[in-house]
Amino acid sequence: LRRQLGLEVRSTNSSNHTDIPAPVETFEEGVEGNVHLLEQFRKNNFTKPSPVQCQMWPILLKGIDCVGISQTGSGKTLAFLVPAFLHCDAQLKHYAAGEKRPCPSVLVLTPTRELALQIHSEVQKYSYNDYKSVCLYGGAYRGEQIATCANGVEIAIATPGRLADLASQGSVCLKTVTYVVLDEADRMLDLGFDADIRRIMLEIRPDRVTVLTSATWPETVSTLSEKYLKNSVICNVGTLDL
Ligand code: ADP
Ligand code: MG
Repeated sequence: LRRQLGLEVRSTNSSNHTDIPAPVETFEEGVEGNVHLLEQFRKNNFTKPSPVQCQMWPILLKGIDCVGISQTGSGKTLAFLVPAFLHCDAQLKHYAAGEKRPCPSVLVLTPTRELALQIHSEVQKYSYNDYKSVCLYGGAYRGEQIATCANGVEIAIATPGRLADLASQGSVCLKTVTYVVLDEADRMLDLGFDADIRRIMLEIRPDRVTVLTSATWPETVSTLSEKYLKNSVICNVGTLDL
């Protein structure tokens, strides 16, 4: 199946997995029967998960850190958002009805305001269970962003500069985050966000699940993944020679 999907999957240098789950073939399998997500796929006329989704979903649902390398347009957003929603579902079980939920439990870091807004609109489109989200980026007033956070959000999408800023002021709490995405890691490094990423990642509990996506795999991105992912698996779709 991996060969058919053009997937190359292996442990990273510092890890040794003998238990990498097989790719899923259908949406039903991939989302573990979640009816809200299945309904959205149907509405969008999506017929099956993309190769990177087929492999990243079961890995992330097992709580294994994962790097996804594939070209732009290959469906990486849903590759990390679907497990993020299922992660929120799992968190929800730990909270009584009406109890204030941790805020946020999912954090997506992405290089630009445009990407942050795009991911945020995907989150809003797929959201259910009253999951709330916030989009944090620079060049906009902090007040509204801070107020949204204060009201409680499960999912935060942010550019590293603005988030590092808000976190250092205590306006966003990162202690509750248990699922982190470094989206388009290559571009975040190109834009000089490494110091902000370090500041943010130091605040997040080490027993989190961490996902990194990138369209390219230069030494700098591989170093970043060694720094922030633990015992991780790399899924490569396409022709990049890792
Ligand atoms: P990437 O992050 O890899 O560049 P995106 O996640 O932005 O790619 O996805 C590109 C487009 O493909 C989006 O419009 C998205 O809605 C669509 N898409 C994602 N998953 C599927 C799927 N399983 N079937 C059909 N289209 C999909
Ligand atoms: Mg993307």
